[in-house]
Amino acid sequence: MLNLSEFPDYPVFNVLESDAEREFRKEVRAWVLKEVLPEADRLEHEKAFPRDLFKKMGEKGYFKALFPKSIGGTELGIKYGTIIGEEISWACRPLVAAWDCTIFCSIPIMRFGKEEHIKKFLPGVMKGDLVGAIAMTEPPAGSDVIGSMKCTAEKDSNGDYIINGEKRFITNGSQADIFTLWAITDKSVPRHQGLSAFVFEKDFDGFEIVDDFELMGNYGLQNTYMRFNNMRIPKENLLGKEGMGAHILLDELDSERTLAAAGSCGNARNAIEIAAHHANKRFQFNKPLRYFEAINFKLADMAIKLEAARHLVYQAACTIDAGLNASKIGAIAKIFATDIAFECAHVALQICGGLGYMKGKYDEETKTYRNPNGSRAYPIERIFRGTRLSSITAGTNEILRFLVQREVFKEMNLKKSGESIDW
Ligand SMILES: Cc1cc2nc3c(=O)[nH]c(=O)nc-3n(C[C@H](O)[C@H](O)[C@H](O)COP(=O)(O)OP(=O)(O)OC[C@H]3O[C@@H](n4cnc5c(N)ncnc54)[C@H](O)[C@@H]3O)c2cc1C
Repeated sequence: MLNLSEFPDYPVFNVLESDAEREFRKEVRAWVLKEVLPEADRLEHEKAFPRDLFKKMGEKGYFKALFPKSIGGTELGIKYGTIIGEEISWACRPLVAAWDCTIFCSIPIMRFGKEEHIKKFLPGVMKGDLVGAIAMTEPPAGSDVIGSMKCTAEKDSNGDYIINGEKRFITNGSQADIFTLWAITDKSVPRHQGLSAFVFEKDFDGFEIVDDFELMGNYGLQNTYMRFNNMRIPKENLLGKEGMGAHILLDELDSERTLAAAGSCGNARNAIEIAAHHANKRFQFNKPLRYFEAINFKLADMAIKLEAARHLVYQAACTIDAGLNASKIGAIAKIFATDIAFECAHVALQICGGLGYMKGKYDEETKTYRNPNGSRAYPIERIFRGTRLSSITAGTNEILRFLVQREVFKEMNLKKSGESIDW
């Protein structure tokens, strides 16, 4: 019978990690096995926001990694962030998504906010007391979020901003204490100059949570439709200067994409582990499945892709930590890791055969999903549904491919041709 706490893991051997990073990974992994994994089935069943675990992540200091020491962070950087992202996502992707959105709601406050907001919000964020959300996407504004945005921020006679409009697909929206919000402050200029970013709190008058969406997977993650009806934001809550919204948005996307890619490595790893375990134990034609090339080559391909994905993630993380431009490598890491995570989940499910398709029934006593014979169900269908999301968020993989090709032409200094060369 499969006991997940004794589940054989596919360890990470990485020469790109320093001794300190390897130790940190061990520490995060031990915490995940003790605190997160035993809760993963319950969270899936209850579809509840993982507030307790979120708080415990704060107690472990996992929110501090991306903040400087000057404000109470540990300044470990994005590479450590990718270790947290991979290890926790391995057991519970929705928890990482909640962490991720809180971090990337807070980084604009840290970089562009007033001293009073840094002091008011960031200590609570770093402790895991405050949940954050990023309010950008709208019904008309998805991939073309800057160009198609409709939400407005009009100045009143005090210089405060009156917000009207709607936002949708906002992760943590119904749970969040603080939000970073993007809205149009000037319609008369090109859109990328007319957007501004703000911070606001959940109890601001005129802010309405319309409802949460039901999701295909990643249960526990709350994703919200929200509306602003003359919501007043004090002028002090403007981040940076008016018109800096597009800059503030682009400033954090490379880090967000790199962490999304790291989370996908965790999911791909889990899929490989389940597939390898099953291929080893399941006999057909008097042999374990692993003896058949059609099965073991699939495992080899998954392992190759995971290694490649993790290297891209580290390359992106090291680029960001070195203060260099990571827009291309961040996009490449995100595209590759999210694509291969879904592929690994798909292939692992196939290797598990019929058992891969079974969710199991939730057993209240053990708080786990079980098959009719009492055996623990594989969580592979959950990984399959969960990983399907990642090629849509933090920039769809189509939009990121557009970004990558643009960088290729730019790096080669190839200007758009006016006419065809006649050779
Ligand atoms: C679970 C979940 C969580 C999310 N969390 C947040 C959040 O916290 N905050 C937030 O602000 N947003 C969030 N989003 C929104 C997410 O960023 C958008 O869904 C995403 O940007 C795509 O927008 P869209 O869904 O409107 O798709 P669309 O933009 O309508 O695109 C539909 C399809 O067309 C493709 N497409 C669009 N334009 C082009 C083009 N020019 N060339 C080729 N293909 C194109 C897209 O790649 C996609 O495949 C979340 C979404 C989901 C599903």
